[in-house]
Amino acid sequence: MCGIIGYIGFRDAKEILVDSLKRLEYRGYDSAGIAIIDKKQQLFKDIGEIDEIKKNLPDFKGTIGIGHTRWATHGGVTKENAHPHLSSNKKIAVVHNGIIENFTKLRDNLKKKGYKFLSQTDTEVIAQLIEDNYTGNLEKAVFSALKKVEGYYAIVVTCTDEPDKIVGARKDSPLVIGVGDNENYLASDVTAFLKYTNRVVYLNDGELCIISNKEIRIFDEKNIPIERKENLIKWDLKDAEKSGFPHFMLKEIYDQPETVHHVIRGRISEIYRTIEFNEKVENLLKNGINSINIIACGTSYYAGLIGKYLVEKLTGIPVNVELSSEYRYFGTRNESSLVIAVTQSGETLDTLAALKEAKNSGCKTLVVTNVVGSTATRISDAYILTQSGPEIGVAATKTFTSQILVLFLLALKISIIKNKIGADELYKYILQLKELPRNVRQILNQSKKISGIASKLKNANSVFFIGRGLNYPLSLEGALKLKEISYIHAEGFAAGELKHGPFALLTKTTPVVVIVTKDSTYAKMIANIGEVKARGPQVIAIAEDSDTEIDKHADFVLPFPSNSGLLSCVPITVILQLLAYHVANLRECSIDKPRNLAKSVTVE
Ligand code: GLU
Repeated sequence: MCGIIGYIGFRDAKEILVDSLKRLEYRGYDSAGIAIIDKKQQLFKDIGEIDEIKKNLPDFKGTIGIGHTRWATHGGVTKENAHPHLSSNKKIAVVHNGIIENFTKLRDNLKKKGYKFLSQTDTEVIAQLIEDNYTGNLEKAVFSALKKVEGYYAIVVTCTDEPDKIVGARKDSPLVIGVGDNENYLASDVTAFLKYTNRVVYLNDGELCIISNKEIRIFDEKNIPIERKENLIKWDLKDAEKSGFPHFMLKEIYDQPETVHHVIRGRISEIYRTIEFNEKVENLLKNGINSINIIACGTSYYAGLIGKYLVEKLTGIPVNVELSSEYRYFGTRNESSLVIAVTQSGETLDTLAALKEAKNSGCKTLVVTNVVGSTATRISDAYILTQSGPEIGVAATKTFTSQILVLFLLALKISIIKNKIGADELYKYILQLKELPRNVRQILNQSKKISGIASKLKNANSVFFIGRGLNYPLSLEGALKLKEISYIHAEGFAAGELKHGPFALLTKTTPVVVIVTKDSTYAKMIANIGEVKARGPQVIAIAEDSDTEIDKHADFVLPFPSNSGLLSCVPITVILQLLAYHVANLRECSIDKPRNLAKSVTVE
């Protein structure tokens, strides 16, 4: 996880590093630090958040430096363990994202050679190893040092003996170059430098780069120079700012009428009544798919579960959804199966590892991601962008609804290819898609009401979420959202499962959020509400606005527009997001940066 930034140019490095770290903070916020060269390495690091740390930051001068915001994996959250780490001679500074798996052995060897270690991190061995291999050329020393390293990393390195260059290298962790005029950047994430440039050069796994203020050089793992073209990033900086909202999460919830529009724009054609993807995706889908495996983690996994219901309903093709971290080691590989990886960042390490496994087993691979140029897009056969703009809040919101919509469009496309859908049915879905931004807006207009219901949940010790069909994965997501930002224990269940165990946990003080749609399971859901109420808890129903019965059964009702059909999962999601947000806000939680979490999980 963690955020990395390196800057070399003509401006005050301190200002740029601090500003970039602030933008990267969502990637880790245990501690942070910078090292700026002015003859020597000027180092400052501390635990806590950037805003606090910068108050004590000395007035370092210099135009070359590196910075880091940490999500600890090795060694506690202490000042000593914060990055950057210096080598023993204090000339080399390193920031690192990832894990060095053989660090104990390397450290023991280096200690025998007399190197002194100040931290418990795995990262410090990289700094020492580079010093140990240094003979006057930093890139050569980094290259040699990395040969001895096992594990995964993105590193950015400077050396006081060569204050005109920064060296970066990556293996299984993201690193991207920002191209400026007489200045250049290296970062884990484009949002770090988007304020200064939208010109980027992506690094591939195993590559090493050297940036100066005028030049960018890239070498592959055999040390052979590579030419790489620049890409332009279309994201707008204002998308990565709060724009007057108290939290990124709330802003990103409110972005959804637009992001919903963006994800379907150019992909549905009302005139030709069809769904369109780029050629690579279409070729993949035309390839006679008999089964699909969706691999993902966290919220993306729940989007995958929703995708299963949608694809199976619309195409009849069986879909298996697996957690990437399990699929990687235990998943069944079937060459005729299409593997769809869903990952917001395109850098989720578990998903990348699972994707590689799938590829090696001969499966065709398709990625659904929000980040153009991310590793996942470069190792898969084809990819679809969710086009949601940067998501900064650690809890996924707008990217989740966009993932659902991409999977819905995919389901429609496959059903067209397989002749499983009639023109009228398809047209009905196209109209529902076009109606969706308006339906989402309707939910946002209920925010105050949802906040009122949130006050009923804010002191609960535990909250249940239940639903059937599509509403089951939505229950899982509703519970996850609540627990990750409000720290209230919450669980989602298939409504039919309560009686098979979870009922034992239900007390009068366990509110139950019930998601009900007027489908074939409606009567069963009403019965489930009765079973819950008989045990005393309050029931909050999320139900269609045309449902005139639900008031009689539930204590509180949050309505969503009835006209969304299968796509009701999107407005329902927005209700669940607002509910979690308001509960967390009432509890004064750190909404954008929940404890122990970080966005873009680039460790296993
Ligand atoms: N393994 C390193 C540490 O614990 C880097 C962790 C990260 O990726 O943030 O310091």
